[in-house]
Amino acid sequence: MDDAPNSEHFTLTPIGYVVSDYPDKFGIPRQPGLAPAANARLVLTAPYNDPLAVRGLEAFSHLWLSFIFHQSPERWSPLVRPPRLGGNRKIGVFASRSTHRPNRLGLSLVKIAGIDTQHGVTLQLQGCDLVSGTPVVDIKPYLPWAESHPHAQAGFAPHAPTLMDVVFHPQALETLTKRQDSATLYALIEQVLGQDPRPAYKQKETHSERLYGVRLRDVDVKFRPYPNNEATTLEVMAVEPYAE
Ligand code: SAM
Repeated sequence: MDDAPNSEHFTLTPIGYVVSDYPDKFGIPRQPGLAPAANARLVLTAPYNDPLAVRGLEAFSHLWLSFIFHQSPERWSPLVRPPRLGGNRKIGVFASRSTHRPNRLGLSLVKIAGIDTQHGVTLQLQGCDLVSGTPVVDIKPYLPWAESHPHAQAGFAPHAPTLMDVVFHPQALETLTKRQDSATLYALIEQVLGQDPRPAYKQKETHSERLYGVRLRDVDVKFRPYPNNEATTLEVMAVEPYAE
């Protein structure tokens, strides 16, 4: 065996998979907690779905998820272009939360909304920033007294992103209000579009003929910039069943 430290390999086996409100990567907020209305389940798989393995977890409110960016390419490079910097300026991959990184490991802090141990183990989560199907490799309870540093320096992302206003076209609102999950879906749309999912170079746009689309739950949310304003509002034009 080669004894150079960087020749070691470690095999990771998922302990479970996320089922989330996000069928697609596009539009997912860039950090957990930015869309608290986003619901997800983490379904643990055998042999990790033993209720004994989560005994005591119900006494914690938040959880760290270690997961694999399974939809990102394996290739990586030392410099990345964070969307937060407009997609032009480059920064070191290890100074970023980029999804294109060696080992493709991600880390998200989420709220525990429930723990079901009736059949295996399923954790109900809130505020998750992961696409449905994301493999999770470990979970750990969050310790606020050790891990919360509200005054820490946060480099090129010192503050939470500025939110867009979101308005609904009456027809879109009508479709939405007919749904059983209308209240939570409304909140989710508002929170997701509030982050402005458009590409950075389109974010100054005040008028667009084309509609953008974001998939949330089982619907396709069609939106566009609200015309004739300061580019601070997005308008939801339709909430349609998603067609492959
Ligand atoms: N909080 C995590 C972290 O810091 O490691 C994720 C941050 S990353 C910037 C968030 C983005 O990852 C989301 O906006 C979404 O587009 C993308 N994403 C979510 N799940 C993914 C997956 N399984 N594979 C690849 N990209 C994913």
